Amino acid sequence: MDPSPPPPPPPHVVIFPLAAQGHVNPMLKLAELLALSGLHITFINTEHIHHRLLQHAEVQARFDAYPYFRFKTISDGLPMDHPRPGDYFTTTFNHIKSITKPLFEELVAAPGQPVTCIIADGIFTFTIDIARDLGVPIIAFRTISASSFWAYFCIPRMIENGDLPIKGDEDMDHIVTSVPGMEDILRCRDLPSFCRVSDLSDWLLQYVTTQTLQTTRARALILNSFDQLEGPAISQIRTHIPNLYTIGPLHSHLKSRLSSSPSSPPPPSASNSLWEVERSCISWLDEQPPKSVIYVSFGSITTLNRHDFGEFWQGLVNSGRRFLWVVRPDSLAESCPGAVQEELREATAERGCVVGWAPQEEVLQHGAVAAFLTHSGWNSTLESVVAGKPMLCWPFLADQQVNSRLVSHAWKLGLDMKDVCDREVVERMVNGVMGERKEEFAAAGAVLARRAREAVGEGGSSWDNLDRLIEDIRSMKT
Ligand code: UDP
Repeated sequence: MDPSPPPPPPPHVVIFPLAAQGHVNPMLKLAELLALSGLHITFINTEHIHHRLLQHAEVQARFDAYPYFRFKTISDGLPMDHPRPGDYFTTTFNHIKSITKPLFEELVAAPGQPVTCIIADGIFTFTIDIARDLGVPIIAFRTISASSFWAYFCIPRMIENGDLPIKGDEDMDHIVTSVPGMEDILRCRDLPSFCRVSDLSDWLLQYVTTQTLQTTRARALILNSFDQLEGPAISQIRTHIPNLYTIGPLHSHLKSRLSSSPSSPPPPSASNSLWEVERSCISWLDEQPPKSVIYVSFGSITTLNRHDFGEFWQGLVNSGRRFLWVVRPDSLAESCPGAVQEELREATAERGCVVGWAPQEEVLQHGAVAAFLTHSGWNSTLESVVAGKPMLCWPFLADQQVNSRLVSHAWKLGLDMKDVCDREVVERMVNGVMGERKEEFAAAGAVLARRAREAVGEGGSSWDNLDRLIEDIRSMKT
Protein backbone atom coordinates (compact mmCIF):
# COMPACT_ATOMS: atom_id res chain seq x y z
CA MET A 1 0.00 0.00 0.00
CA ASP A 2 1.27 3.51 -0.83
CA PRO A 3 2.24 5.58 2.19
CA SER A 4 -0.24 8.45 2.78
CA PRO A 5 0.87 11.73 1.14
CA PRO A 6 2.67 14.26 3.38
CA PRO A 7 0.40 17.00 4.78
CA PRO A 8 0.44 20.25 2.77
CA PRO A 9 2.91 22.84 4.09
CA PRO A 10 1.38 25.59 6.27
CA PRO A 11 0.55 28.90 4.56
CA HIS A 12 3.64 31.10 4.37
CA VAL A 13 3.24 34.75 5.39
CA VAL A 14 5.97 37.34 4.81
CA ILE A 15 5.80 40.24 7.30
CA PHE A 16 7.56 43.50 6.44
CA PRO A 17 7.66 46.33 9.03
CA LEU A 18 9.22 49.79 8.93
CA ALA A 19 12.47 49.65 10.92
CA ALA A 20 11.32 51.51 14.05
CA GLN A 21 10.43 50.33 17.56
CA GLY A 22 6.79 51.42 17.31
CA HIS A 23 6.33 49.40 14.09
CA VAL A 24 8.50 46.33 14.73
CA ASN A 25 6.90 45.84 18.14
CA PRO A 26 3.25 45.33 17.08
CA MET A 27 4.17 43.56 13.84
CA LEU A 28 6.25 41.03 15.77
CA LYS A 29 3.29 40.45 18.06
CA LEU A 30 1.13 39.84 15.00
CA ALA A 31 3.81 37.51 13.60
CA GLU A 32 3.81 35.55 16.82
CA LEU A 33 0.02 35.32 16.87
CA LEU A 34 0.07 33.87 13.35
CA ALA A 35 2.96 31.50 14.19
CA LEU A 36 0.97 30.32 17.20
CA SER A 37 -1.80 29.16 14.91
CA GLY A 38 0.66 27.13 12.85
CA LEU A 39 1.42 29.54 10.01
CA HIS A 40 4.88 29.70 8.48
CA ILE A 41 6.33 33.21 9.06
CA THR A 42 9.20 35.07 7.42
CA PHE A 43 9.79 38.32 9.31
CA ILE A 44 11.88 40.85 7.41
CA ASN A 45 14.17 42.86 9.66
CA THR A 46 16.97 45.29 8.93
CA GLU A 47 20.33 43.94 10.13
CA HIS A 48 20.62 46.83 12.56
CA ILE A 49 17.21 46.23 14.19
CA HIS A 50 17.78 42.48 14.18
CA HIS A 51 21.07 42.82 16.00
CA ARG A 52 19.49 45.06 18.66
CA LEU A 53 16.42 42.86 19.08
CA LEU A 54 18.34 39.65 19.47
CA GLN A 55 20.75 41.08 22.03
CA HIS A 56 18.10 39.77 24.45
CA ALA A 57 18.65 36.01 24.67
CA GLU A 58 15.03 35.39 25.63
CA VAL A 59 13.80 36.93 22.37
CA GLN A 60 15.86 34.48 20.30
CA ALA A 61 14.63 31.60 22.47
CA ARG A 62 11.01 32.67 22.07
CA PHE A 63 11.09 32.64 18.29
CA ASP A 64 13.18 29.47 18.14
CA ALA A 65 10.25 27.76 19.87
CA TYR A 66 8.11 28.16 16.72
CA PRO A 67 9.02 25.50 14.13
CA TYR A 68 8.04 27.65 11.16
CA PHE A 69 9.35 31.08 12.18
CA ARG A 70 12.38 32.69 10.63
CA PHE A 71 13.89 36.13 10.30
CA LYS A 72 15.15 37.40 6.97
CA THR A 73 17.59 40.29 7.37
CA ILE A 74 18.23 43.09 4.90
CA SER A 75 20.55 46.10 4.86
CA ASP A 76 19.05 49.54 5.53
CA GLY A 77 21.82 51.08 3.44
CA LEU A 78 23.81 52.50 6.37
CA PRO A 79 26.95 50.96 7.90
CA MET A 80 26.29 49.04 11.14
CA ASP A 81 28.28 51.54 13.23
CA HIS A 82 26.25 54.56 11.96
CA PRO A 83 24.74 56.37 15.01
CA ARG A 84 21.24 56.35 13.42
CA PRO A 85 19.30 59.21 15.04
CA GLY A 86 15.76 58.45 16.27
CA ASP A 87 14.00 59.06 12.93
CA TYR A 88 16.77 57.65 10.69
CA PHE A 89 14.24 55.44 8.91
CA THR A 90 13.13 58.46 6.87
CA THR A 91 16.72 58.60 5.52
CA THR A 92 16.77 54.90 4.71
CA PHE A 93 13.26 54.80 3.20
CA ASN A 94 14.46 55.17 -0.41
CA HIS A 95 17.07 52.47 0.01
CA ILE A 96 14.49 50.05 1.42
CA LYS A 97 12.13 50.94 -1.42
CA SER A 98 14.85 50.21 -4.00
CA ILE A 99 15.60 46.72 -2.67
CA THR A 100 12.01 45.58 -2.10
CA LYS A 101 11.29 44.24 -5.60
CA PRO A 102 14.36 41.95 -5.76
CA LEU A 103 13.72 40.94 -2.15
CA PHE A 104 10.12 39.87 -2.84
CA GLU A 105 11.20 38.16 -6.06
CA GLU A 106 13.79 36.16 -4.15
CA LEU A 107 11.27 35.15 -1.47
CA VAL A 108 8.63 34.17 -3.99
CA ALA A 109 11.09 32.14 -6.07
CA ALA A 110 12.57 30.25 -3.07
CA PRO A 111 11.94 26.51 -3.60
CA GLY A 112 9.78 24.55 -1.16
CA GLN A 113 8.12 27.47 0.66
CA PRO A 114 5.77 29.31 -1.70
CA VAL A 115 4.66 32.68 -0.34
CA THR A 116 0.92 32.70 0.45
CA CYS A 117 0.65 36.40 1.24
CA ILE A 118 2.59 39.48 2.33
CA ILE A 119 1.63 41.65 5.29
CA ALA A 120 3.45 44.95 4.79
CA ASP A 121 3.63 48.06 6.91
CA GLY A 122 0.95 50.40 5.55
CA ILE A 123 3.61 53.10 5.21
CA PHE A 124 5.23 50.98 2.48
CA THR A 125 2.47 51.49 -0.10
CA PHE A 126 5.00 50.81 -2.87
CA THR A 127 4.78 47.14 -1.85
CA ILE A 128 1.20 46.92 -3.19
CA ASP A 129 2.20 47.16 -6.85
CA ILE A 130 5.24 44.91 -6.40
CA ALA A 131 3.15 42.17 -4.77
CA ARG A 132 0.41 42.51 -7.38
CA ASP A 133 2.96 42.14 -10.21
CA LEU A 134 4.19 38.98 -8.55
CA GLY A 135 0.64 37.70 -8.15
CA VAL A 136 0.88 37.54 -4.34
CA PRO A 137 -1.99 38.88 -2.17
CA ILE A 138 -0.93 41.78 0.03
CA ILE A 139 -2.45 43.01 3.29
CA ALA A 140 -1.61 46.42 4.79
CA PHE A 141 -0.94 46.81 8.49
CA ARG A 142 -1.17 50.33 9.95
CA THR A 143 0.41 50.82 13.37
CA ILE A 144 -1.55 54.03 14.05
CA SER A 145 -4.97 54.37 15.68
CA ALA A 146 -8.10 53.84 13.56
CA SER A 147 -9.11 57.44 14.32
CA SER A 148 -5.79 58.78 13.02
CA PHE A 149 -5.98 56.60 9.93
CA TRP A 150 -9.48 57.89 9.31
CA ALA A 151 -8.36 61.51 9.81
CA TYR A 152 -5.55 60.94 7.26
CA PHE A 153 -8.12 59.41 4.90
CA CYS A 154 -10.34 62.48 5.20
CA ILE A 155 -7.65 65.05 4.29
CA PRO A 156 -9.08 65.61 0.74
CA ARG A 157 -12.51 66.14 2.32
CA MET A 158 -11.02 68.60 4.85
CA ILE A 159 -9.50 70.58 1.99
CA GLU A 160 -12.76 70.58 0.06
CA ASN A 161 -14.65 71.71 3.16
CA GLY A 162 -12.21 74.55 3.89
CA ASP A 163 -11.00 73.07 7.20
CA LEU A 164 -7.54 72.94 5.60
CA PRO A 165 -5.29 74.81 5.26
CA ILE A 166 -5.33 76.01 8.87
CA LYS A 167 -5.50 79.80 8.60
CA GLY A 168 -3.17 80.59 11.50
CA ASP A 169 -2.89 80.39 15.28
CA GLU A 170 -6.33 81.96 15.67
CA ASP A 171 -7.82 79.02 13.72
CA MET A 172 -6.35 76.26 15.89
CA ASP A 173 -9.45 75.87 18.09
CA HIS A 174 -11.86 75.81 15.15
CA ILE A 175 -13.92 72.56 15.16
CA VAL A 176 -13.30 70.31 12.14
CA THR A 177 -16.59 69.08 10.71
CA SER A 178 -15.32 67.08 7.74
CA VAL A 179 -14.24 63.89 9.51
CA PRO A 180 -17.48 61.85 9.72
CA GLY A 181 -17.96 60.09 13.04
CA MET A 182 -15.57 62.48 14.79
CA GLU A 183 -17.41 65.77 14.27
CA ASP A 184 -17.52 66.66 17.97
CA ILE A 185 -13.97 65.67 18.75
CA LEU A 186 -11.39 67.27 16.52
CA ARG A 187 -10.22 70.87 16.46
CA CYS A 188 -7.59 72.02 13.93
CA ARG A 189 -5.10 71.69 16.76
CA ASP A 190 -5.88 67.96 17.00
CA LEU A 191 -5.28 67.16 13.36
CA PRO A 192 -2.19 65.12 12.45
CA SER A 193 0.93 67.31 12.76
CA PHE A 194 1.62 67.40 9.02
CA CYS A 195 -1.72 69.22 8.52
CA ARG A 196 -0.13 72.29 10.15
CA VAL A 197 1.04 73.78 6.87
CA SER A 198 -0.17 76.84 5.00
CA ASP A 199 0.76 75.38 1.61
CA LEU A 200 -1.41 72.45 0.56
CA SER A 201 1.26 71.28 -1.89
CA ASP A 202 3.55 70.49 1.05
CA TRP A 203 5.24 67.17 0.13
CA LEU A 204 4.57 65.38 3.43
CA LEU A 205 0.89 66.28 3.44
CA GLN A 206 0.62 65.16 -0.19
CA TYR A 207 2.59 61.99 0.45
CA VAL A 208 0.57 60.88 3.48
CA THR A 209 -2.72 61.63 1.74
CA THR A 210 -1.86 59.65 -1.38
CA GLN A 211 -0.36 56.82 0.64
CA THR A 212 -3.42 56.50 2.87
CA LEU A 213 -5.85 56.42 -0.05
CA GLN A 214 -3.69 53.73 -1.70
CA THR A 215 -4.52 51.38 1.18
CA THR A 216 -7.86 50.62 -0.50
CA ARG A 217 -5.88 48.73 -3.19
CA ALA A 218 -4.57 46.15 -0.72
CA ARG A 219 -6.55 42.96 -0.19
CA ALA A 220 -7.26 43.93 3.42
CA LEU A 221 -6.24 46.26 6.23
CA ILE A 222 -5.16 45.23 9.74
CA LEU A 223 -5.40 47.74 12.59
CA ASN A 224 -4.06 47.42 16.11
CA SER A 225 -7.28 48.58 17.74
CA PHE A 226 -10.61 47.17 18.85
CA ASP A 227 -14.19 47.93 17.98
CA GLN A 228 -15.29 49.02 21.45
CA LEU A 229 -12.46 51.57 21.67
CA GLU A 230 -12.70 53.35 18.33
CA GLY A 231 -16.14 52.30 17.04
CA PRO A 232 -17.02 55.50 15.11
CA ALA A 233 -13.75 55.62 13.10
CA ILE A 234 -13.72 51.86 12.54
CA SER A 235 -17.27 51.85 11.10
CA GLN A 236 -16.35 54.69 8.76
CA ILE A 237 -13.19 52.95 7.53
CA ARG A 238 -15.22 49.77 6.91
CA THR A 239 -17.38 51.60 4.39
CA HIS A 240 -14.24 52.16 2.26
CA ILE A 241 -12.24 49.06 3.21
CA PRO A 242 -14.73 46.27 4.01
CA ASN A 243 -11.97 43.73 4.55
CA LEU A 244 -10.83 45.34 7.79
CA TYR A 245 -9.36 43.32 10.67
CA THR A 246 -9.24 45.11 14.02
CA ILE A 247 -7.32 42.64 16.18
CA GLY A 248 -5.78 44.71 18.98
CA PRO A 249 -4.52 45.51 21.46
CA LEU A 250 -1.97 43.09 20.02
CA HIS A 251 0.27 42.83 23.09
CA SER A 252 -2.72 41.85 25.19
CA HIS A 253 -4.16 39.62 22.47
CA LEU A 254 -0.90 37.67 22.30
CA LYS A 255 -0.94 37.12 26.07
CA SER A 256 -4.55 36.00 25.91
CA ARG A 257 -3.87 33.43 23.16
CA LEU A 258 -0.66 32.19 24.79
CA SER A 259 -2.39 31.59 28.09
CA SER A 260 -5.20 29.66 26.42
CA SER A 261 -2.78 27.40 24.54
CA PRO A 262 -1.12 24.98 27.01
CA SER A 263 1.80 24.00 24.74
CA SER A 264 2.86 27.55 23.88
CA PRO A 265 5.88 29.43 25.27
CA PRO A 266 5.27 31.62 28.36
CA PRO A 267 3.96 35.13 27.65
CA PRO A 268 6.79 37.61 26.96
CA SER A 269 7.80 39.60 30.04
CA ALA A 270 8.94 42.66 28.09
CA SER A 271 8.07 44.19 24.76
CA ASN A 272 10.47 43.44 21.94
CA SER A 273 12.86 46.15 23.05
CA LEU A 274 15.62 47.57 20.91
CA TRP A 275 17.31 49.14 23.95
CA GLU A 276 18.75 47.44 26.97
CA VAL A 277 15.97 47.19 29.55
CA GLU A 278 16.80 48.55 33.02
CA ARG A 279 14.85 46.27 35.33
CA SER A 280 16.08 48.17 38.40
CA CYS A 281 13.02 50.41 37.96
CA ILE A 282 10.74 47.48 38.84
CA SER A 283 12.57 46.99 42.17
CA TRP A 284 12.23 50.73 42.75
CA LEU A 285 8.49 50.59 41.99
CA ASP A 286 8.13 47.63 44.38
CA GLU A 287 9.21 49.95 47.21
CA GLN A 288 6.73 52.74 46.41
CA PRO A 289 3.23 53.04 47.91
CA PRO A 290 0.29 51.89 45.74
CA LYS A 291 -0.78 54.34 43.02
CA SER A 292 1.81 56.94 43.99
CA VAL A 293 4.03 57.18 40.88
CA ILE A 294 3.64 58.92 37.55
CA TYR A 295 5.47 57.07 34.76
CA VAL A 296 7.06 59.42 32.19
CA SER A 297 8.13 58.28 28.74
CA PHE A 298 8.07 59.90 25.34
CA GLY A 299 8.59 56.72 23.30
CA SER A 300 11.43 55.67 21.05
CA ILE A 301 11.79 58.60 18.63
CA THR A 302 10.84 61.86 20.36
CA THR A 303 13.70 64.17 21.23
CA LEU A 304 13.35 66.96 23.78
CA ASN A 305 15.17 70.26 23.56
CA ARG A 306 16.82 71.69 26.68
CA HIS A 307 13.94 74.08 27.37
CA ASP A 308 11.20 71.43 27.26
CA PHE A 309 13.29 68.98 29.23
CA GLY A 310 13.84 71.61 31.95
CA GLU A 311 10.12 72.48 32.10
CA PHE A 312 9.12 68.83 32.53
CA TRP A 313 11.79 68.34 35.14
CA GLN A 314 10.77 71.40 37.19
CA GLY A 315 7.07 70.68 36.76
CA LEU A 316 7.49 67.12 37.98
CA VAL A 317 9.67 68.11 40.93
CA ASN A 318 7.29 70.94 41.90
CA SER A 319 4.28 68.62 41.73
CA GLY A 320 5.67 66.82 44.76
CA ARG A 321 4.72 63.46 43.22
CA ARG A 322 6.97 60.42 42.76
CA PHE A 323 8.00 59.72 39.19
CA LEU A 324 9.73 57.14 37.05
CA TRP A 325 11.21 58.83 33.97
CA VAL A 326 12.64 57.16 30.87
CA VAL A 327 15.43 59.32 29.45
CA ARG A 328 16.73 57.42 26.43
CA PRO A 329 20.44 57.85 25.71
CA ASP A 330 19.47 59.64 22.46
CA SER A 331 16.45 61.56 23.73
CA LEU A 332 17.95 64.99 24.14
CA ALA A 333 18.34 67.15 21.08
CA GLU A 334 21.33 68.98 22.59
CA SER A 335 23.98 68.32 25.25
CA CYS A 336 25.26 65.08 26.67
CA PRO A 337 22.38 62.84 27.80
CA GLY A 338 24.58 60.64 30.01
CA ALA A 339 25.54 63.65 32.13
CA VAL A 340 21.95 64.91 32.20
CA GLN A 341 20.68 61.53 33.39
CA GLU A 342 23.24 61.57 36.19
CA GLU A 343 22.33 65.14 37.16
CA LEU A 344 18.66 64.24 37.18
CA ARG A 345 19.28 61.09 39.20
CA GLU A 346 21.09 63.05 41.90
CA ALA A 347 18.61 65.92 41.97
CA THR A 348 15.58 63.68 42.32
CA ALA A 349 16.98 60.71 44.22
CA GLU A 350 14.31 60.95 46.91
CA ARG A 351 11.23 60.89 44.77
CA GLY A 352 12.35 60.01 41.29
CA CYS A 353 13.85 57.11 39.39
CA VAL A 354 15.46 57.70 35.99
CA VAL A 355 16.29 54.92 33.55
CA GLY A 356 17.42 54.75 29.92
CA TRP A 357 14.73 52.24 28.88
CA ALA A 358 11.99 50.54 30.92
CA PRO A 359 9.96 47.34 30.51
CA GLN A 360 6.99 49.59 29.75
CA GLU A 361 4.15 47.09 29.60
CA GLU A 362 5.17 45.73 32.99
CA VAL A 363 5.66 49.23 34.44
CA LEU A 364 2.17 50.29 33.39
CA GLN A 365 0.67 47.19 35.00
CA HIS A 366 2.53 47.83 38.28
CA GLY A 367 0.34 48.69 41.29
CA ALA A 368 2.58 51.64 42.29
CA VAL A 369 1.95 53.42 38.97
CA ALA A 370 -1.03 55.77 39.01
CA ALA A 371 -0.70 57.60 35.69
CA PHE A 372 1.35 57.98 32.51
CA LEU A 373 2.88 61.19 31.14
CA THR A 374 3.18 60.18 27.48
CA HIS A 375 3.85 61.48 23.98
CA SER A 376 0.69 59.59 22.91
CA GLY A 377 2.36 57.12 20.56
CA TRP A 378 -0.29 54.54 19.66
CA ASN A 379 1.47 51.57 21.29
CA SER A 380 1.97 53.50 24.51
CA THR A 381 -1.65 54.65 24.46
CA LEU A 382 -2.93 51.08 24.03
CA GLU A 383 -0.63 49.77 26.74
CA SER A 384 -2.03 52.39 29.12
CA VAL A 385 -5.62 51.56 28.14
CA VAL A 386 -5.01 47.85 28.82
CA ALA A 387 -3.53 48.73 32.22
CA GLY A 388 -6.46 51.09 32.91
CA LYS A 389 -4.04 53.96 33.65
CA PRO A 390 -4.97 57.63 33.08
CA MET A 391 -2.74 59.63 30.76
CA LEU A 392 -1.32 63.12 30.69
CA CYS A 393 -0.59 63.66 27.01
CA TRP A 394 2.10 65.72 25.36
CA PRO A 395 1.84 64.73 21.69
CA PHE A 396 4.84 65.36 19.54
CA LEU A 397 4.09 64.50 15.92
CA ALA A 398 1.99 62.70 13.28
CA ASP A 399 -0.91 60.65 14.70
CA GLN A 400 -0.10 61.56 18.31
CA GLN A 401 -2.11 64.81 18.04
CA VAL A 402 -5.27 62.79 17.32
CA ASN A 403 -4.54 60.13 19.95
CA SER A 404 -4.19 62.65 22.77
CA ARG A 405 -7.57 64.13 21.86
CA LEU A 406 -9.15 60.67 22.02
CA VAL A 407 -7.73 60.29 25.53
CA SER A 408 -9.01 63.62 26.82
CA HIS A 409 -12.27 64.00 24.92
CA ALA A 410 -13.55 60.68 23.55
CA TRP A 411 -12.53 58.37 26.41
CA LYS A 412 -12.15 60.97 29.18
CA LEU A 413 -9.14 59.05 30.43
CA GLY A 414 -6.84 61.97 31.13
CA LEU A 415 -5.66 65.42 30.12
CA ASP A 416 -4.17 66.81 26.93
CA MET A 417 -1.25 69.24 27.33
CA LYS A 418 -0.84 69.65 23.58
CA ASP A 419 1.24 72.63 22.34
CA VAL A 420 2.21 73.76 25.84
CA CYS A 421 5.38 72.98 27.72
CA ASP A 422 5.46 75.04 30.84
CA ARG A 423 6.47 73.98 34.35
CA GLU A 424 3.33 75.39 35.98
CA VAL A 425 1.07 73.59 33.52
CA VAL A 426 3.02 70.35 34.02
CA GLU A 427 2.69 70.69 37.79
CA ARG A 428 -1.04 71.49 37.63
CA MET A 429 -1.84 68.71 35.22
CA VAL A 430 0.26 66.10 37.03
CA ASN A 431 -1.73 66.97 40.14
CA GLY A 432 -4.92 66.86 38.09
CA VAL A 433 -4.43 63.24 36.97
CA MET A 434 -2.84 62.13 40.25
CA GLY A 435 -5.07 64.16 42.60
CA GLU A 436 -8.28 66.11 42.00
CA ARG A 437 -9.58 64.07 39.07
CA LYS A 438 -8.03 60.72 39.85
CA GLU A 439 -11.30 58.97 40.83
CA GLU A 440 -13.03 60.03 37.63
CA PHE A 441 -10.10 58.89 35.45
CA ALA A 442 -9.63 55.65 37.38
CA ALA A 443 -13.29 54.77 36.75
CA ALA A 444 -12.91 55.45 33.01
CA GLY A 445 -9.68 53.41 33.00
CA ALA A 446 -11.37 50.42 34.64
CA VAL A 447 -14.15 50.40 32.01
CA LEU A 448 -11.71 50.61 29.06
CA ALA A 449 -9.39 47.97 30.52
CA ARG A 450 -12.36 45.60 30.88
CA ARG A 451 -13.46 46.25 27.29
CA ALA A 452 -9.91 45.57 26.07
CA ARG A 453 -9.84 42.28 28.02
CA GLU A 454 -13.19 41.27 26.54
CA ALA A 455 -12.07 42.14 22.98
CA VAL A 456 -9.03 39.85 23.14
CA GLY A 457 -10.69 37.07 25.14
CA GLU A 458 -12.24 34.03 23.44
CA GLY A 459 -15.33 35.19 21.52
CA GLY A 460 -14.34 38.87 21.75
CA SER A 461 -14.28 41.08 18.64
CA SER A 462 -10.48 41.07 18.20
CA TRP A 463 -10.27 37.32 18.87
CA ASP A 464 -12.93 36.61 16.23
CA ASN A 465 -11.38 39.03 13.75
CA LEU A 466 -8.00 37.31 14.07
CA ASP A 467 -9.68 33.96 13.43
CA ARG A 468 -11.27 35.46 10.30
CA LEU A 469 -7.91 36.82 9.15
CA ILE A 470 -6.29 33.40 9.57
CA GLU A 471 -9.15 31.76 7.64
CA ASP A 472 -8.72 34.36 4.90
CA ILE A 473 -4.98 33.55 4.68
CA ARG A 474 -5.64 29.80 4.68
CA SER A 475 -8.11 30.25 1.81
CA MET A 476 -5.46 31.93 -0.40
CA LYS A 477 -4.00 29.77 -3.14
CA THR A 478 -0.23 29.58 -3.55
N1 UDP B 1 8.86 51.30 25.22
C1 UDP B 1 9.46 50.47 26.12
N2 UDP B 1 10.26 51.03 27.08
C2 UDP B 1 10.47 52.35 27.18
C3 UDP B 1 9.82 53.22 26.26
C4 UDP B 1 9.00 52.66 25.29
O1 UDP B 1 9.31 49.23 26.07
O2 UDP B 1 11.22 52.77 28.07
C5 UDP B 1 8.00 50.70 24.17
C6 UDP B 1 6.55 50.91 24.48
O3 UDP B 1 6.09 49.87 25.33
C7 UDP B 1 5.92 50.92 23.09
C8 UDP B 1 7.03 51.39 22.17
O4 UDP B 1 8.23 51.33 22.92
O5 UDP B 1 5.52 49.60 22.76
C9 UDP B 1 6.85 52.82 21.71
O6 UDP B 1 5.86 52.88 20.74
P1 UDP B 1 4.87 54.12 20.61
O7 UDP B 1 3.95 53.81 19.47
O8 UDP B 1 4.22 54.41 21.89
O9 UDP B 1 5.79 55.35 20.28
P2 UDP B 1 6.98 55.61 19.23
O10 UDP B 1 8.21 55.11 19.86
O11 UDP B 1 6.63 54.87 17.96
O12 UDP B 1 6.97 57.09 19.08
